[in-house]
This record gives sequence, C-alpha cells and structure tokens, in this order.
Amino acid sequence: MADADRCKIDALIERYDFDAPSQDYESLNGYLLDRWTEGGDGYGTLTARFNKRLLQHVYETHGRDTLETRLNSEYETLRGDDEILRRELMDDLVADGIDADQLVEEFVSRSTMRRHLKNCLNGQKKTPSAETNWERESIEIALSRAKEKTSEALRSLHSKGEFVDVADVDVTVTVGCSECPTRIPLREALARGYVCETHHSAPDSSALTFLTTLSGLLVLSSSARMLAGSTPLLA
Ligand SMILES: [Zn+2]
Ligand SMILES: [Zn+2]
Repeated sequence: MADADRCKIDALIERYDFDAPSQDYESLNGYLLDRWTEGGDGYGTLTARFNKRLLQHVYETHGRDTLETRLNSEYETLRGDDEILRRELMDDLVADGIDADQLVEEFVSRSTMRRHLKNCLNGQKKTPSAETNWERESIEIALSRAKEKTSEALRSLHSKGEFVDVADVDVTVTVGCSECPTRIPLREALARGYVCETHHSAPDSSALTFLTTLSGLLVLSSSARMLAGSTPLLA
C-alpha cells in the first residue's frame, strides 16, 4: 500500500509500538474497537484517548512528567484555540527537547478515527437492544459473580491466616482458538467477532481460561469450558 494511502492511526501504532491499555485487550486496536462497538464511546472520545496516548509516549521519551491531569490539560491547550497559550506550551515542549510541531501534526482527527474504526477494523457500532444483548449481559453477570465469589473466598482464607490480604480481584476471561494456540481476551474477541485471524470462521466451542489477578499478582488460574446455551460461566 502506498504511504499516502496508509491509515495514519495504523502507522502511528506501528511506529511507536502502542500496546493495549489494559489486560482486557490484546492490542490498542482491540480496545478502540470494543470501546466504540460495545462501550458507547464516540469518535471524539476515542480520538482524544488515542492522541493522549501519543502525547504520553512523547513526554515519556523526553523525561517530561506524565501525570494524567497534566496530559489532559496540555492536550486541551494543544488542541484549543487560545493561540497564546498554545504557543507558550509549544515553546515549553521545545525546551524539553520535543519537536512540538511534529507532535501536533501527528495528532489524528475525528474523521481519521472514524475511517479507521469503520474501514480498517471493519467495526459496526451495535445498537443495544434488550433482545439481542442478553448473552453479553449474562457474561457480565458471570464475571462479576466470579469476582465476588473469589473475593469472598480469599477474605475467608485471609481471616484464617492462610492467605495475604488482597485489595482487589480482577477477573479476565481469555478465549482460545479451537484450531491453534492463539488466545485473546474475551472482550476483544467479542468486539471483533472472532478469536484468531487465521481461523476466522470456526465458531465452535473455545476453551475459556479464568485468570484472576490479585493486586497485580497472578496467583490463580483455572480452566472452564463455555457450555452452549444459557448456562452461566460459573455456578
Ligand atoms: Zn486504520
Ligand atoms: Zn487459530
């Protein structure tokens, strides 16, 4: 593909090696797609999120503070129409060794984000309806129940002195391709409608792995199989 036709977002993700913002996603694209199709985020929100990721990266590589409040307010200034404030901030960026003109140029627009979601990622925004959403709801219920039950059991172990006190439990479900070892987070698979690029059209049962993260530390992992029909993931 000619460079001029190349999607700016894909080029930036590749150039800066942007990864997923959380372990619920395998890639930044998976995250964008899920937030757009399922999460109800619009082009504007996702554009800002992407650009702030870029800003954060540039600040990091130049040793500039990346506190979220700073990123947010400086992003607003760079995108805003107060020319004096903007010039002042850009001079400050240059003083930190940042090519401010290039940075601003690299920010993507809403229309680029729109094209990226629709054309590059083949996204289709879902219109939520009670009738079609019960499957996703039942997954959410199962996940929150898994989280609750795990927390409860761990609290009990803690009270018996058999386990450390944990602050938080995260439950992430990973789905695996039935034909090859590819595994990706369920949220991302649901957003794009398949698990693996190669075995796109194999809709049979995929193994599910529950990974429970305790305060960022992986301590527990067990397997279950998603049963056909409406059986909850966890009893
Ligand atoms: Zn793209
Ligand atoms: Zn596969």
